[in-house]
Amino acid sequence: MQNIHQRACRNLVKHFKLYKDVFSSQQGRLHRETTVQRRTFSGKKMAPRNSPRNLRVLLDMDGVLADFEGQFLKRFREKYPHDPFVPLEERSGFYVTKQYYDLGQDIGTKAFSIYEEKGFFLNLQPIEGALEAAREMAEMEGVDVYICTSPIKKYTHCVVEKYQWLDKHLGKEWMERMILTRDKTVINGDLLIDDKPNITGGMNPPMWQHVLFTSWHNRDVVPQGSQIRLDGWLPHSNWRDILEQKRQEISDH
Ligand SMILES: [Mg+2]
Repeated sequence: MQNIHQRACRNLVKHFKLYKDVFSSQQGRLHRETTVQRRTFSGKKMAPRNSPRNLRVLLDMDGVLADFEGQFLKRFREKYPHDPFVPLEERSGFYVTKQYYDLGQDIGTKAFSIYEEKGFFLNLQPIEGALEAAREMAEMEGVDVYICTSPIKKYTHCVVEKYQWLDKHLGKEWMERMILTRDKTVINGDLLIDDKPNITGGMNPPMWQHVLFTSWHNRDVVPQGSQIRLDGWLPHSNWRDILEQKRQEISDH
């Protein structure tokens, strides 16, 4: 009887050890996979040797990646074909609705309704060359790219559609890069590429240098202070030089 008990105990210990070994190896495998995944994600682009850290670029969405002005005019004319409108060449001032209010109180109200409607932000067309530039930037060694965008106050459709737009045009992995904020000055970056001429908020001055992206409404604006202008994304664009220059500045400090 004692032998039977001893054998049963030995078997139990053997099974426990076997289970422990299998469990440990599973844990190890999971740990290794997680470690590898983490390393792949964070270690994909290291800063160049002479640079202490990656360059952080903040990309605005409306007017920089997505054609807000073009879509606004198209929808306004479709929805209100008999009302006066502002051609793109005559746009001035950052807020499109302000210029439409100058045409009449009711025209301004109608203008508001355009970008508050369902599907407006999702259906914005990408600005020419923007997606290619964003992808190239994200692949650059020593560069971290974030999308930095301010949703409208009536956020019902806008917030979710901004995520959907990014997913549709650049893919799920870009969700990791999304920053939604009403105050871009508190975001820590080296460059903010944005079409709004005056960006103010709680942090003055902000950490980033403002790259004023040319849009219909800001063509005549003279860059102020440390602002520099960027005229679009097409091959002649000097965005690569701007990034390189900023990277040099960072490594010199
Ligand atoms: Mg913008």
